[in-house]
Amino acid sequence: MKLRNVYYRVHQFGFSAFMYLAPLRDAKVLSGAGSIYKIPELVKQEGLKKVLVVTTPGFIRRGSLTPFFESLTKVGVSYAVFSEVQPDPTTDCIEEAVARYSKEQCEAIIAIGGGSVIDCSKALGARIARPKKSIPQMAGLLKVLKRIPNIYAVPTTAGTGSEATAGAVITNAADHYKFTILDLCLVPQYAILDPELTVGLPAHITAVTGMDALTHAVEAYTNRFCSPTAKKYAFESVKLIYENLLTAYEDGSNLKARENMLLASYYAGMAINSNFIGYVHAIAHGIGGLYGVTHGMANAIIMPYVLEAFGDATSKKLSNLAELVGIGGASEQKKAKAFIDSIREMNKKMNIPDKVAELQEKDFKTLTSRAVKEGNPTYPVPVIWEEKEFEEVLKWLR
Ligand code: NAD
Repeated sequence: MKLRNVYYRVHQFGFSAFMYLAPLRDAKVLSGAGSIYKIPELVKQEGLKKVLVVTTPGFIRRGSLTPFFESLTKVGVSYAVFSEVQPDPTTDCIEEAVARYSKEQCEAIIAIGGGSVIDCSKALGARIARPKKSIPQMAGLLKVLKRIPNIYAVPTTAGTGSEATAGAVITNAADHYKFTILDLCLVPQYAILDPELTVGLPAHITAVTGMDALTHAVEAYTNRFCSPTAKKYAFESVKLIYENLLTAYEDGSNLKARENMLLASYYAGMAINSNFIGYVHAIAHGIGGLYGVTHGMANAIIMPYVLEAFGDATSKKLSNLAELVGIGGASEQKKAKAFIDSIREMNKKMNIPDKVAELQEKDFKTLTSRAVKEGNPTYPVPVIWEEKEFEEVLKWLR
């Protein structure tokens, strides 16, 4: 093994052990239809007088949050609204949210939306806690290290698991570089898993966000140094996704499938909290940043290629996942291949393509160097890659 890779492995082991042992404050979970209406009392009990509701233009346009706003008023909690969050929040978007939070003198954040809204809220919280640091200055591991305002995270996709994780993914407005702020203090105080808010999620977004959750669970488990806790969460998540994603895709109004997908996404978030993501994400972040391909879609397309490229290094673990979801095979390798095929099959059934149409060869250098920078040494991936291995995968993706 190259000396540099030995250094990477020692570094990864240290971080994985830290993430496993660190006093990570888990979000308190409330779940079930209508659970969003428990938030006003929680806010009141904390003695907080005014909150910023962070959401998207769509939720305001559809009017679906009106009863929730009324429930805040009813218990005497004032609120302001920041509804300008677009997919993949940029540094500019965060600064606008910071200005609104400060102008309105808010004391906590209620994030109602997908990963973009929750990540915007986390970065907003970090800026409030550390007013002298810019968002890019907080990129990377443990750069916030200060309590941020309470976040009540209500995911409306299932999904990113951001309601559980210590990360916030932000896009730099200047160069479209997607980076992560990773700090234990970013874990929201509360995760409110209310399936009624995901019922209106269009089928295509249900599909790609569900595959995002699957990517989290698979990467956290196949990574090195996977703790029993990470494995437990990853297995729970994979099982729930195989049992519920297609149902939620085909029948968006199935509340049970929606609730189970929210749980799956939350569990996958817990899995990456202790054992990180991997190279699927390192490539997907580059592609999402450069071309605006949605995060879940990029992960769904890339995952089978990366798993295949890892070869025998992951066949034992992938064969375990195959068994978990009832896929058989004559050998470990065959079961692993069948599991990868099942991911492709699921993509196909949900009309997710198997290539990235936007990908251009002229961008390979940027994408491979961003993937190396993001993945190494942080992610405890099964096999350590440099630019040339990433380039191979990019060629397959075209
Ligand atoms: P998203 O939040 O960008 O939302 C996707 C689209 O769905 C948006 O147009 C949104 O308005 C719409 N939408 C959301 N909920 C809806 C609903 N219930 N009904 C109708 N429309 C709805 O998508 P996402 O996949 O949840 O989040 C992606 C972002 O999260 C990316 O930036 C990604 O990098 C990041 N991410 C973060 C983490 C983390 O741990 N922090 C993990 C994975 C991904």
